[in-house]
Amino acid sequence: MQIESIRQRLQALGALPVHEQRVLRDWLQRRPYDGGRRRPEDFLPKALRAALPQIDAELGGLVRLLSSHPTDDGSARLLVGLADGQAVESVLLPRGGLCVSTQVGCAVGCQFCMTGRSGLIRQLTGGEIVAQVALARSLRAVKKVVFMGMGEPAHNLDNVMDAIDLLGSEGNIGHKNLVFSTVGDARVFERLPQGVVKPALALSLHTTKPELRAQLLPRAPRMSPVELVERGEAYARATHYPVQYQWTLLEGVNDGDDELDGIVALLKDRYAVLNMIPYNSIPDLAFRRPAWERCREIARQLHRRGVLTKLRDSAGQEVDGGCGQLRARAAQPRQS
Ligand code: SF4
Repeated sequence: MQIESIRQRLQALGALPVHEQRVLRDWLQRRPYDGGRRRPEDFLPKALRAALPQIDAELGGLVRLLSSHPTDDGSARLLVGLADGQAVESVLLPRGGLCVSTQVGCAVGCQFCMTGRSGLIRQLTGGEIVAQVALARSLRAVKKVVFMGMGEPAHNLDNVMDAIDLLGSEGNIGHKNLVFSTVGDARVFERLPQGVVKPALALSLHTTKPELRAQLLPRAPRMSPVELVERGEAYARATHYPVQYQWTLLEGVNDGDDELDGIVALLKDRYAVLNMIPYNSIPDLAFRRPAWERCREIARQLHRRGVLTKLRDSAGQEVDGGCGQLRARAAQPRQS
């Protein structure tokens, strides 16, 4: 179900913009319809009022919780079923964050990511993307949504932008707390600045070397790290919010001193923060995470050399819910 078709359905039942807003807010902010008549928007047209139980059931049926896998750090991996039997994963993050999926599978095929190994199975609709937020809010408060789960948001751009627009307007989430994450795609830099709700931007960098990046992200658009940063910088300046560069630390691959020199040349004095995330292990892959002390040393050195760097350990990794570990588990034989 696309967001536009939800709106059209409401309009066909006589909803004015204020009524539409009321129904969508109740859904996304988990406010049960109380039948109250204290505010103008409570006076829903009769046909809409009559159809509300059915509409609620349809919106509530877009996704369902198949299982929840909590960890001690306050995060939880959620296995989320879709109406056609496919499944995606969302991750509840500490401090009110939620990581949502935008596709079943992913076509980019990053070498260190589990999701990419299945290829793209299908796009999520805008309704299915925002329904992950409504579902998570039935479990606890959600104040921030990052589009960093399964899928490359740039490959499902219309639906992701619709979801961002709805979450930023009726979902009560500030635009800086909506984080669009991408490997970099010319369409993203053209379209995001035109949106009503302009999200924060996270760009997957992973290396400063174009050839290595082409190996690690084999089906990402051929945009050089220099161009990626130039375009990211323009977006950050236009939206007055820093770009987050993402860097999965892989031992012996992109954790050397040569990369540190490249990072300083690329990111020093940029309106940006560099998030370094040690690799989370994935079965059958030969990559390894560097020792924690090496990771800290890298972050320290970059800081000293003028690059704002945060070293992050992925939330949820102990339940395979960390960066790069998500996959469509229900599509595979159950292990337990
Ligand atoms: Fe796709 Fe992101 Fe995984 Fe790369 S890291 S394969 S873009 S889901």
